[in-house]
Amino acid sequence: MIKVVKFGGSSLADAEQFRKVGRIIRKDADRRYVVPSAPGKRTPDDTKVTDMLYGCYGVAIMEEEECEEEFESRLEKIKERYDEIIEGLGLSMDLTDEFRMIRENFIRKTGRDYAASRGEYLNGRIMAEYLGYPFIDAADVIFFDEDGNFDAKKTDQVLAEVLAEKKCAVIPGFYGSMPDGSVKTFSRGGSDITGSIVAKAVHADMYENWTDVSGFLITDPRIIPNPKAIDVITYRELRELSYMGATVLHEDAIFPVRKEGIPINIRNTNIPEDKGTLIVESTCRKPRFVITGIAGKKDFASITVEKAMMNTEVGFCKKVLEVFSDNGISIEHMPSGIDTFTIFVHQDEFEEKEQKVIAGIHRAVEPDFLELESDLALIAVVGRGMRATRGTSGRIFSALAHANVNVKMIDQGSSELNIIIGVRNHDFETAIRAIYDIFVNTML
Ligand code: ASP
Repeated sequence: MIKVVKFGGSSLADAEQFRKVGRIIRKDADRRYVVPSAPGKRTPDDTKVTDMLYGCYGVAIMEEEECEEEFESRLEKIKERYDEIIEGLGLSMDLTDEFRMIRENFIRKTGRDYAASRGEYLNGRIMAEYLGYPFIDAADVIFFDEDGNFDAKKTDQVLAEVLAEKKCAVIPGFYGSMPDGSVKTFSRGGSDITGSIVAKAVHADMYENWTDVSGFLITDPRIIPNPKAIDVITYRELRELSYMGATVLHEDAIFPVRKEGIPINIRNTNIPEDKGTLIVESTCRKPRFVITGIAGKKDFASITVEKAMMNTEVGFCKKVLEVFSDNGISIEHMPSGIDTFTIFVHQDEFEEKEQKVIAGIHRAVEPDFLELESDLALIAVVGRGMRATRGTSGRIFSALAHANVNVKMIDQGSSELNIIIGVRNHDFETAIRAIYDIFVNTML
């Protein structure tokens, strides 16, 4: 078996966390390829090393002389974070030369991406030393093309070739290189993507993504204290939930492994005995509850367009949608009736252009009636189990009625994978509690 293991910033924030990671890796000989993030927060008000690097580089490129001292002190603070880890682990390595080079490159304005990438680079060096694994610089194996897009083909070829010769290795996350050799990073949280790319290249049996939560929770813990974790979730379900705001994994991390059928296992470094969440392409395993997850977002506005015999007018929807795209407003949802259809948009995007949009729709389709509503929330109830279970929507809506929540909109996709419900902003939390209660609490 081959497992690729990625550790997030909080799992590597200090020497104690590093030791936990070491124990996890040594416990299973299949955990052969390790992708570390940069050190994250040690306490809630701490600063991630990546943010320290961005800040330090921002000062480095300022021309003013008085910034010099500030630059040196910021760089020193970053070095201290690493020195503390090295000392805490009892390693004999010394990063003085590395920091001398980083300092010179900052002064030479080598770029923001280079600056940020040093967080993962240095953590990778320490991790390799700590584990006794070979270190592979991501700049030598992860590539971007001229336009700055990830070059999957070249990366896969080179990475597979390089790793074929290594039984185990540490490859820092988050960055790679451009055709001219300069360093480029993925977007924030991008070490998840590196882990996925490495898993694909070595044809891993499993991509373990270690973080500080025991997988995806059924719903937001700020609304339901200690919600149950999701055991198994499909990529499609995950997409629905993350679209609605549930985040644990970088969205782009899914693509490389999904194509290869490699499952992702989200695990908790602080509670390694928890099984976490398994993300798979498809599964026969029955979900524990009828629903897999509930997620949602607040602050939508809706625009309802009504016109008699709308359905006979060719291109009616297209004309209305064009008004939104002409005004640069993205559409979130579009439930429709016979002579009406409603468009949900983000309120903050819409508010300032509201009158222009209304005028545009009048001009484009001459509606009989236009109605605007604001302060709406959308809730997605997602679950592959809903398809096989009668009465799911019945249970949702009776639970909402009992909780005194008025449902403004219902939209069930034909895949029966999700039901989207529109409610007032102020009913959002009550609605989620009611749905969680009926599907999870009553089943325990
Ligand atoms: N260190 C980078 C960040 O903070 C990348 C990562 O942790 O995945 O965004």
